[in-house]
Amino acid sequence: GSTIGILGGGQLARMTAIAAAQLGYKTHVYCPEPEPSAGHVSTHVTRSAYNSYADLDRFAQKVDVITYEFENIMCEPVEYLSRKVAVFPDPKILKTCQDRVLEKTFVQSCGIPTARFEPVDSLDMLRGAIKKLGYPSILKSNTMGYDGKGQVKIVEGMDLEQAWKTVTQNITSSIKAILEEYIEFESEGSVIVARGLDTNCEQVTYPLVQNKHKNHILRQTIAPSPLPDYIHQEAKEISKKISKSIHLVGILAIELFIVKDKQSGNYRLLVNELAPRPHNSGHWTIEGCATSQFEQLVRCICGLSLGCVDFMKRVPEQEYISQKLQPIIMNNLLGQDVDQWEKQIHNKSSHLHIYAKGDAKEGRKMGHVTILPGSN
Ligand code: ATP
Ligand code: MG
Ligand code: MG
Repeated sequence: GSTIGILGGGQLARMTAIAAAQLGYKTHVYCPEPEPSAGHVSTHVTRSAYNSYADLDRFAQKVDVITYEFENIMCEPVEYLSRKVAVFPDPKILKTCQDRVLEKTFVQSCGIPTARFEPVDSLDMLRGAIKKLGYPSILKSNTMGYDGKGQVKIVEGMDLEQAWKTVTQNITSSIKAILEEYIEFESEGSVIVARGLDTNCEQVTYPLVQNKHKNHILRQTIAPSPLPDYIHQEAKEISKKISKSIHLVGILAIELFIVKDKQSGNYRLLVNELAPRPHNSGHWTIEGCATSQFEQLVRCICGLSLGCVDFMKRVPEQEYISQKLQPIIMNNLLGQDVDQWEKQIHNKSSHLHIYAKGDAKEGRKMGHVTILPGSN
């Protein structure tokens, strides 16, 4: 059987490896961590730095296709690998998605709205950008951010020099930061889109879900999102445009802000960011969908036909919503929630996932639990 190479050894690699095994594929995880979460379940592990070219060469010889589990990985080694073995999603997509200015520029070029933004490369430029976007606004490092790290909310009267330092320390990209207009969203959501390798470029989108964050970390996903049908349709349209324009092979998550117009009560969507990989807000698909996001990724990059994205028991999305079925809930288990894990195992309607990651540090994603409706 073929071997799928995965760059990164965290929980996303772990769940991808489990899905790959079910379809008869071997996996080979490449990562620097001493005890990768994915190590327990993948066929081979190479523990090495991402820029160890001799090890990358050996890795490339042993795998048939390569994917990655996080977008902050260095581009050069991924581009290097892609000259030897097919890498999906294409490294060009990775490049766009790891740079917030490039990412938002791309999304707008598809005719899809984002928060207004200004690239910022110095304290002076920051002052100028604030004049344009006003208070409050959000200063983010242009690259390398995740879980809200490298972000500061800019409010009137604050020490801008300090904010600039905090956000741009350790940032080496050509544009260091981005200032974004502050969006007063009603809720946050996401869709995951999958696009296949075959010549018809078959494409499917998972239902729009609602995401609840605390301290910038995802705590809960609700599937489907309790929003009107036209917003579900609009999210699908957005995902189609983006996946087509970016020539996606693989899966890509689109994070969205849902804004409610005070006068009309109408909703509209803004794209926040893109992630060309499985996404935390898609973990519910393991039990909640006919095909999980992880199996879908394997199907996409191995040239299989795509799987069905209907809700569990094959209830089509439209029917699921019109029958007013209870939503599926996914709760993250963070380091500080460690005492809840055991309780979850006794809940008959919950499906527990533990990532075997070692240190249960505060804010670290240690596992998740998916609660299916109707069995309480
Ligand atoms: P992730 O872990 O999802 O990759 P990240 O560090 O890349 O996170 P963002 O997704 O850009 O960061 O922002 C994290 C959160 O901060 C968002 O989910 C949202 O709650 C809030 N946020 C980000 N940008 C804005 C904005 N322009 N206006 C209002 N809130 C925002
Ligand atoms: Mg991000
Ligand atoms: Mg985000």
